[in-house]
Amino acid sequence: MKVLVTVKRVIDYNVKVRVKSDNSDVDLANVKMAINPFCEIAVEEAVRLKEAGTASEVVVVSVGPKAVQEQIRTALALGADRGIHIETEESPESLNVAKLLAKVIDEEKPELVILGKQAIDTDNNQTGQMLAALTDMPQGTFASEVKLEDGKAMVTREVDGGLQTVALNLPAIVTTDLRLNEPRYASLPNIMKAKRKPLAVKTAEELGVELKAHTQLLKVAPPAERQAGIKVASIDELVEKLKNEAKVI
Ligand code: AMP
Repeated sequence: MKVLVTVKRVIDYNVKVRVKSDNSDVDLANVKMAINPFCEIAVEEAVRLKEAGTASEVVVVSVGPKAVQEQIRTALALGADRGIHIETEESPESLNVAKLLAKVIDEEKPELVILGKQAIDTDNNQTGQMLAALTDMPQGTFASEVKLEDGKAMVTREVDGGLQTVALNLPAIVTTDLRLNEPRYASLPNIMKAKRKPLAVKTAEELGVELKAHTQLLKVAPPAERQAGIKVASIDELVEKLKNEAKVI
């Protein structure tokens, strides 16, 4: 069984994000970049399926400029077998990414596609769902457990009321939630080995996809600075401040 996983290059989650002074976007200059954490979970799940003998090949795909090859190599070091880089000028909006991924699915015919539930940079949470619509494949989003049984993917989903389990006919699309697994770290020998694993580069044109702008980014603003807290001397003072200053009681 072939598993396709997607990885998006985003600002490392430990970095404090800065906004450009003209508010046009987030400042990416000299910022540490990494695999989107939910995509790391997707890679880990695919690699575990391979280690369990369920998956025969794990193919990792990323869309974006040449720099995304760094994240593809990391995924290869984590255990994926080969990479596909779809080269575009910048990381395109979700619908364009989904259209490109749909073409890769046409070519590769994987039985399982695992994406992150959301990219932590734009928080879109829509690429997997769009891909399911474009490919007419069943989807199990926000997965906290994935089991392959009797030719179906049994996906346990984290929903408001608790956990919901759905049975998906294969081929299927799964998006990962935080509790699906705990990703491993890449070992040095595996980082070295990953350099020799195959990585194909394709363009949107070669895949027959026209990248269209459906949305326009108007402005990016940092969150309001938090006011410093204060210490109160007594419960009476606390109640007085909650009543008269914060006006919450
Ligand atoms: P989003 O819908 O943008 O929040 O992204 C959800 C998931 O779609 C991510 O966790 C990735 O697995 C995948 N994805 C989004 N953008 C890209 C990209 N440029 N390259 C590869 N995968 C992507």
